[in-house]
Amino acid sequence: MTDILTLIREKDPGQKEFHQAVQEVVETIRPVLDRNPEYRQAAVLERIVEPERVIMFRVPWMDDQGRVRVNRGFRIEMNSAIGPYKGGLRFHPSVNLSILKFLAFEQVFKNALTTLPMGGGKGGSDFDPKGKSDMEVMRFCQSFMAELYRHIGPDTDVPAGDIGVGAREIGYLFGMYKKLSNEFTGVLTGKSLNWGGSLIRPEATGYGAVYFAAEMLATKGKTLEGKTALVSGSGNVAQFTTEKLIELGARVVTLSDSSGAVYDEEGIDAEKLAVIKRLKNIRRGRIQEYAEKYPGVVYTEADPALDHNPLWDHPADCALPCATENEINGRDAENLLKNGVFLVCEGANMPSTPEAINLFLDQKILYAPGKASNAGGVAVSGLEMSQNSMRLNWPREEVDNRLKIIMRSIHLTCVHAAAEYNEPGNYMAGANIAGFVKVVNAMLDQGVV
Ligand code: NAP
Repeated sequence: MTDILTLIREKDPGQKEFHQAVQEVVETIRPVLDRNPEYRQAAVLERIVEPERVIMFRVPWMDDQGRVRVNRGFRIEMNSAIGPYKGGLRFHPSVNLSILKFLAFEQVFKNALTTLPMGGGKGGSDFDPKGKSDMEVMRFCQSFMAELYRHIGPDTDVPAGDIGVGAREIGYLFGMYKKLSNEFTGVLTGKSLNWGGSLIRPEATGYGAVYFAAEMLATKGKTLEGKTALVSGSGNVAQFTTEKLIELGARVVTLSDSSGAVYDEEGIDAEKLAVIKRLKNIRRGRIQEYAEKYPGVVYTEADPALDHNPLWDHPADCALPCATENEINGRDAENLLKNGVFLVCEGANMPSTPEAINLFLDQKILYAPGKASNAGGVAVSGLEMSQNSMRLNWPREEVDNRLKIIMRSIHLTCVHAAAEYNEPGNYMAGANIAGFVKVVNAMLDQGVV
């Protein structure tokens, strides 16, 4: 068992995020391997940590001043045992092989939990769309797709959005794919509604996370009504998490971006959320402007020298991290618990460090790992693929109902798998075990490939 961790550390010493994601899974699936010796015999662990294919490429593009710029593009095709590779593209300066391999690895388990036939992948670039003009973003996306198009396809690999890749980027990427392949197919998800997108796709990750939180609370006879929630981020996932929390009667008091966080003790209502959506999605401004607009709102600038994030240090019942990986460390987890938080439901991927997760599990609070609670986004991407194949568009209520059913099913799957392996209430163990079993059984059926 330690061997696999030693192996990946020795093979790829610099990939600490990838090591972290693998370690979490490996530690929880130990009893599954003990119960199923055929898994060890078929080296499923050694195979599942090795991407089926890694593509790295140069992305040259021209900025508005006529200068040539060069970024690096990636696509990790991690596992296709249960369906075509599926997973988002991230455009952010921090993007590297370690980050994308961790995301692709998580995606394999997440996609397996959705009940839909999707393998796992992830990709992106160290390109930073922040501060770039629409035309610069378009030229970058076109150059990125000029290489990626030969590796993807509706039955091969279907990318979507992630940090820095929203409706605008998906549009430019799709346009270039269509031009190069001379095909109008569902090769990307997160498309706009009038050319193949699905209703509820933008909302799906955030709504799904809140549905999952509600399911967890229901096991304790509780609801979200009247609960105070801390949410981080202010992008796609944070916005729709906040929207659904408000709808279900919770009071959301925080949001953030990479520059800082706002604390609004009164609560962010639907009207204020509409202001944030305009600020972030149309004007592409900073969250600080929210504090400038509403008296009584406190803005705290991000301080990398601090050993904790002040956003997690407010009295609350629930925390829904929706920004990025490792945004809740051990100290933040202590602050959350001290302030009365009894539910942590991850909208982002791997936002809690191992130290934070251990504290949540020790204290037996309701803790949902992102690979279960944020699976609503990729689930509705799967539904977008189905609609594209059938050349149909389902109404909003139908997609939302399917999303609710999928989130309920993921919740139940986690509960049952955790109980079966003597870890009742441990959603992390449940998610890892259920996802792992589904994927490795398919790998066993398909032989050594
Ligand atoms: P997004 O729309 O680009 O928003 C990301 C938000 O997080 C922004 O507010 C951003 O602030 C903030 N952020 C990003 N990097 C940060 C950093 N290093 N430090 C502090 N703040 C940071 O992205 P998103 O789609 O909401 O994704 C958020 C998280 O959810 C990610 O972990 C992503 O992998 C995960 N996720 C997304 C989906 C989906 O459907 N979109 C599905 C599943 C999981 P700035 O604007 O200042 O950068």
